[in-house]
Amino acid sequence: MATALQILKDKFGYEAFRFNQEQIIETVLNKQDAFVLMPTGGGKSLCYQIPALILSGLTVVISPLIALMKDQVDALKINGIKAEFLNSSLSASESSSVYDELRQGNLKLLYIAPERLFNGGDQFLNFLKTLDISLFAIDEAHCISHWGHDFRPEYRLLSALKKEFSAVPIIALTATADKLTRDDILDKLQLKNAQTFISSFNRPNIHYTILPKRGMYDQLVDYLSEHRDDSGIIYALSRNSTESLVEKLRLDGFSAVSYHAGMTTEARKTNQDLFSRDEVKIVVATIAFGMGINKSNVRFVIHTDLPKNIESYYQETGRAGRDGLKSDAILYYSGGDVIKLKNFAMVEGNPEQTRIMLQKLAQMSALCEANNCRRKSILNYFGEETSESCDSCDICLNTQEKFDGTTIAQKALSAVARLENRYGLNYVINVLRGSKSIKIKSAHKSLSVYGIGKDISQDEWYKYFQDLISFGFLKQIGSEYPVLSVTEKGLAVLGGKERVLLVKNSFKREKSFSEKPFEKELFDELKIVRNNIAQQENVPAYIIFSDATLLELATYLPQSKAEISQIVGFGEVKLNKYGQSFLAAVIAYCAKKQLASKIADKIAKHVRPVKVNQEVENETKALSYNLFKEGKTIAEIAEIRGFAPSTIEGHLAFYVQSGQLKVTDLVRAEKIPQIIEVIKKYGDYPLGTLKDALGENVNYGEIKAVINHLKHANLSVEESLKDS
Ligand code: ADP
Ligand code: ZN
Repeated sequence: MATALQILKDKFGYEAFRFNQEQIIETVLNKQDAFVLMPTGGGKSLCYQIPALILSGLTVVISPLIALMKDQVDALKINGIKAEFLNSSLSASESSSVYDELRQGNLKLLYIAPERLFNGGDQFLNFLKTLDISLFAIDEAHCISHWGHDFRPEYRLLSALKKEFSAVPIIALTATADKLTRDDILDKLQLKNAQTFISSFNRPNIHYTILPKRGMYDQLVDYLSEHRDDSGIIYALSRNSTESLVEKLRLDGFSAVSYHAGMTTEARKTNQDLFSRDEVKIVVATIAFGMGINKSNVRFVIHTDLPKNIESYYQETGRAGRDGLKSDAILYYSGGDVIKLKNFAMVEGNPEQTRIMLQKLAQMSALCEANNCRRKSILNYFGEETSESCDSCDICLNTQEKFDGTTIAQKALSAVARLENRYGLNYVINVLRGSKSIKIKSAHKSLSVYGIGKDISQDEWYKYFQDLISFGFLKQIGSEYPVLSVTEKGLAVLGGKERVLLVKNSFKREKSFSEKPFEKELFDELKIVRNNIAQQENVPAYIIFSDATLLELATYLPQSKAEISQIVGFGEVKLNKYGQSFLAAVIAYCAKKQLASKIADKIAKHVRPVKVNQEVENETKALSYNLFKEGKTIAEIAEIRGFAPSTIEGHLAFYVQSGQLKVTDLVRAEKIPQIIEVIKKYGDYPLGTLKDALGENVNYGEIKAVINHLKHANLSVEESLKDS
């Protein structure tokens, strides 16, 4: 039986487990229930996909979203894993062929929506009972709880699972759940003895920035211009603002589409697909967008309006960087948004819920205003202790160059106060700057604040005022001709009781999402290779390979099949199917630029142990081998041992992999190139396919010997690297 680690490497092409994946998998394999709390992008899927491959029967995955099911199943199939889904998007004949496969026990994973389980009374459940089911996985498990933010009534039905299938373990997974929701999930699913696994909520590859909302559109355009090749989501509060932002961005030459609840299902699906397939880089969305999206190379998430609580902020920003590469979360904050959102937070006839919503909103705005590490604030909110500084948020990096602006703030606030909280922004600034304009009343020209801000430009004053408003020292009242007034917090500043930090420059940022130098041009070429394959296979590009894989290719420049197999994401199947195409692109690029492989840089840190699905030696193979070494022919050995010659060929081929026999001991040299050609084209199994392609001239033993010869070459590269 293959071990979990073997499957991780061979089927998925990954080096090592993340978080507590390994312990989770072990728990499930021991038939114990498990509850998994892991951040988005953490790798929850593997926690049930790997057990599914190890256990004998079928794993049933319950998932709330049709779009996500198809994605997951496509990704599994591309790795050569037998998986299907059943939902309303399938035609009758497609469904019935899935049912056939299920009856024949051909599938390892089946994805279904919860309502499907209970369709037509017990009919589907009874059907499942006729199958060999080894595991139920409940994805997005928080949907079962009222306390979660995404309650789905049909999830309630799942409470019956434990009763109906008492011997089958259940693994429940979610990315968001506070303590209350967590307990509720365990209770509703009747998981009394579940092992609970909680991973850190930290998303180290997400870089958090919160900026005062001023000159936002220009900053946005600057940012997007520097990230033209990247995909991202921009969240806005209302349908109208998404539509108008899309329009503006298009006029400025960006490819953007909108996504909100006011659109038809069809239009939403079209836009989501365009985004998934990298045909459009930017989606401007209301919060309705997100759950159905599995796209791993979202490089930025921008909030143009304040999220209503930290859970939402965390979840929405969490859609960035699922591939583990550096990504940005940028939020534009204004005190005005807090006021707007307060209205939304009022729940008619439910004062208790209103109180909770307002409290959550206040915590969100406190996070924006505080001068603390953003990451620490988020993690503390979720009850997680962390060290002081993260070095990857705007506060820790001090990208906003804050300075003590107490004196400036006092000048501004006293001007507003002297003008009796009755004038608008421009007027106040003119007074501060000592404007000679006749629009300024003469009485105001004799105020002590008149002209005390001459040394600061109009523009700068404008920014400082925006900050003072954002941070709640001033508020604007009225919509048509808003006037400024000093808040209580502002009075504390005037009284010298509170200090004010102001922001000097707009932010600087790192441009690259990689720490190591890599070949950008090659990276772009590889995207084209990936897109072409994705089109042929009719799946989104990230299902073929994530950006993390392309980045490693463009960093380590592998020059052979053995080397490319070291790249993250190249499991056996993908290696055989796509390895050649990517290798060709890398080799051509390196030849043009006279670059050599840097794979040793990767291996130096991370030795990948010897390929693990190796056959092992046994007595019967050893007997055949010894006779062969004594000089007997295959036919003679077959005769002596009473086996078919093909069996003996199989025995001997084993020793080619171990290096004890040379491939030419078993295969005539001139046949070898044509066999390698076919292996390149079809991969190294099933053997029948290769035999068909090669014809009568070549036998199974010879094919096997060449395959093992290639494996041996691969091993010896790895061995020698390991020794060094
Ligand atoms: P989640 O469901 O927790 O949001 P996924 O299961 O979709 O996350 O995993 C996110 C990405 O990380 C996927 O591309 C997945 O293949 C990859 N991944 C998961 N586990 C590992 C691992 N141990 N090593 C490398 N990549 C991994
Ligand atoms: Zn920080």
